[in-house]
Amino acid sequence: TFEVLVIGGGPAGSAAAIYAARKGIATGIAAERFGGQVSDTMGIENLISVPYTEGPKLVAAMEQHVKEYDVDIMNLQRADKLIPAAKPGQAHEVRLANGASLKARTVVLATGARWRQLGVPGEAEYRNKGVAYCPHCDGPLFKGKRVAVIGGGNSGVEAAIDLAGIVGHVTLLEFGAEMRADEVLQKKLRSLKNVDIVTSAQTTEVTGANGKVSGLNYTDRNSGETHHVALEGVFVQIGLVPNTEWLNGDIELSQHGEIVINERNETSIPGVFAAGDATTVPYKQIVISMGEGSKAALSAFDFLIRNSAE
Ligand code: FAD
Repeated sequence: TFEVLVIGGGPAGSAAAIYAARKGIATGIAAERFGGQVSDTMGIENLISVPYTEGPKLVAAMEQHVKEYDVDIMNLQRADKLIPAAKPGQAHEVRLANGASLKARTVVLATGARWRQLGVPGEAEYRNKGVAYCPHCDGPLFKGKRVAVIGGGNSGVEAAIDLAGIVGHVTLLEFGAEMRADEVLQKKLRSLKNVDIVTSAQTTEVTGANGKVSGLNYTDRNSGETHHVALEGVFVQIGLVPNTEWLNGDIELSQHGEIVINERNETSIPGVFAAGDATTVPYKQIVISMGEGSKAALSAFDFLIRNSAE
């Protein structure tokens, strides 16, 4: 039986495993793919004290740091069921897709999230070559350039406002007849001189030349006409999907599927904690996930010293 079992091997899970192991308690980490979203990232410029690194390099450093401690690393293992303890202090059970079952007195859920993709030609091909998903991360790479933001919900409109202060020009494309963002954000966006807003626009293709994004095509859903916009960057902002489908029904989730946590990373189940992009924590970033994972492990430790094993 583990004292702390971490599910997920991204920044949140790695931090949780390190903080738990440093308390000298039996710690395990099961991850479908160690590294998480960081494995898919090129340049990282906002990990404080590290002015520049790259995803694979950061993943290797996280793994090396976890391995400094006595942590049972179970990589390439997908959890598919959480069975909460019947009573606080008793063990929770996590079932893995391979049929194995792990027991733990506390669990830290850190299964992260994935950006919803458009699924149009060119999107995957030009990912990290002009197609981006995170304005806080990649906005400065497009300084003075022309970009599109796809999606007129809160995250899309916030991204467009943010980017308008950095890039040369922003075109916001919304699929519906109207943007869905809060009115105050829409008003702010409309007040910006270097922003065009196109509604009823269905993006059909990201175009490229010389290995980089050159523009995008969209269909006007009212007239059926196709238009081309020349630009250097496309920010896709149509939703961040938490990897929590496997928890459905077992734990309280928000309407967006995020694990509901409080400021101590407690979930609706005593002894089960959660951290990072899979949760309701605002702002999904590496440095935030690391902090959240650390907090979750400290809360788990606190739980353990207050609830002795039965
Ligand atoms: P994740 O990194 O998503 O890790 C989740 C972990 O859980 C993975 O190991 C995964 O395999 C595992 N997992 C999922 N489901 C299961 C399951 N059922 N069972 C077992 N394991 C499971 N942030 C920045 O701060 N700076 C940047 O420059 C930056 N650039 C980015 C660029 C891209 C292309 C992307 C996609 C994201 C970027 N981000 C950036 C965001 C950042 O990567 C995330 O905020 C961060 O990785 C979240 O950490 P996490 O540990 O919560 O989740």
